Amino acid sequence: MAYKKHYSKCPACKNEGELRSSRARNTKERLIKFLTWYDLYRCKKCGWRGWKANFALNKSSIRTIILYLALMILTAFIVYNILKLVV
Ligand SMILES: [Zn+2]
Repeated sequence: MAYKKHYSKCPACKNEGELRSSRARNTKERLIKFLTWYDLYRCKKCGWRGWKANFALNKSSIRTIILYLALMILTAFIVYNILKLVV
C-alpha cells in the first residue's frame, strides 16, 4: 500500500522501513502521545527521533472509532442510569 510506505519512511535519511516506535521519555511526550494522533519514532539507520502521525483513515480504523464511540455511549448510558438510581 502506498500510504504505508510513506508512513514508515524516515524524514531525515529517507530510508524506508527503518522507523521503530520510540518510548516517551517525559510527561510532555507522554501527554502528546496520549492527546494527539502522533507517535514517537526512532530511525534505526540515522538515529533520527521525532513525531509522526500514526493515524490514517482506512476501513479498519473507522470501524475501531465506531466501536469506541458505541462503547463510550453505552458506558455513559449505564453510568447515567446508575446515577439516577443512586441520587
Ligand atoms: Zn533515518
